[in-house]
Amino acid sequence: MALNRESATRWAWVEIDQGALRRNTRAFKGLLGPRQRLCCVVKADAYGHGAVECAKIMYATGADMLAVATVREGIELREGGIKAPILLLSEPPAESVSLLLEYEIMPSIYTAEFALAFGEAAVSAGVVGRYHMAIETGMNRIGVHHTEVVEFRRSIEFHRGIACDGVFTHFATADEPDGWDYKLQRRRFEEAVSAMQEAGFPCGIVHCDNTPASILDASSRYDMIRAGIGLYGLQPSDRTAAALPLDPVMSVRARVTRVAYPAMGEGVGYGFTYRVPRARVQVCTLPVGYADGLSRTLSNRMDVLFRGFRVQQVGNICMDQFMVAITQTSRRQMPEAEVGDVMTIMGRDGDEAITADEHARLRGTINYEVACDFGLRLERVYR
Ligand SMILES: *Cc1c(COP(=O)(O)O)cnc(C)c1O
Repeated sequence: MALNRESATRWAWVEIDQGALRRNTRAFKGLLGPRQRLCCVVKADAYGHGAVECAKIMYATGADMLAVATVREGIELREGGIKAPILLLSEPPAESVSLLLEYEIMPSIYTAEFALAFGEAAVSAGVVGRYHMAIETGMNRIGVHHTEVVEFRRSIEFHRGIACDGVFTHFATADEPDGWDYKLQRRRFEEAVSAMQEAGFPCGIVHCDNTPASILDASSRYDMIRAGIGLYGLQPSDRTAAALPLDPVMSVRARVTRVAYPAMGEGVGYGFTYRVPRARVQVCTLPVGYADGLSRTLSNRMDVLFRGFRVQQVGNICMDQFMVAITQTSRRQMPEAEVGDVMTIMGRDGDEAITADEHARLRGTINYEVACDFGLRLERVYR
């Protein structure tokens, strides 16, 4: 992929601000003491920002570990030349154990079957397979139940092919570290870790914080934090935004591929959900659609930016394209667009900005999903 050049094959692209990614990575490093580590979560192609490129920048800026959600994501990092320790955040199918060893990807472990399969493969390969043990403390998603950690370790620890590199849990309500639910998960986690230590089972790196917990609760950072969304400059809540300012990394832009002045009453797009209300409405076409992650639920509800002004998206968003209308009003004289002009779908233009949070609100989802979706098909430009 060409750097510092927009796509040569399509008039639509995602811009990644490398400086912002570096500043955000440093902001998280700044939360940590000298012996605490930063694990950068680059699952889902770095939340749509490009995993290999982002991982390189994060590692060069002080990340100690990278985390992925799938074995393939881990392999992609290794094939992209990434040398950092890689943690897989769940337990994959046992069939993948030799790939994990070959590519040095540390799995999360929470079943004895998987642990022993991993250990057997490691012994055959003449290596030791490092793993992190996931502990279930209340989210009811993955992990060894917090009351069963010692028995679990006892059932696998004899195996010389595996070694525990860390233990972790994950918060369901990290946005509210004062709440009872969060505090209960923390207590269960601490008790589980102490029980293992007292029974003589090494725990390695102890970690539980995602972005909101790491920002809002200094006391739960332990040996490492696992930051995801915040690295990309998106805030999980208003409270984190007030506590740690971050810079959005992703912008989405496109060039106008066609302009037209349909007659009053003409429909625009599938189903004519918009009709041209008067004369001299300029309808512009942009080459981004729902297959690029621009949700069709935004149809007739979102704006784009053109020369610092908001313009209204009109008609149903198509799979690969959408239309906007530039309407002159008595109050506002709008500049007219020409083919090739750049419009901003997400990001800043002059004094105006369209944020991932704005899209998330309109779609009834969270900024995480908005960012991931723009990773679907658009080419990325790193600036
Ligand atoms: C995705 C994920 C994270 C990162 O969460 P953010 O809220 O994006 O910081 C951390 N830990 C686990 C286990 C995850 O699945």
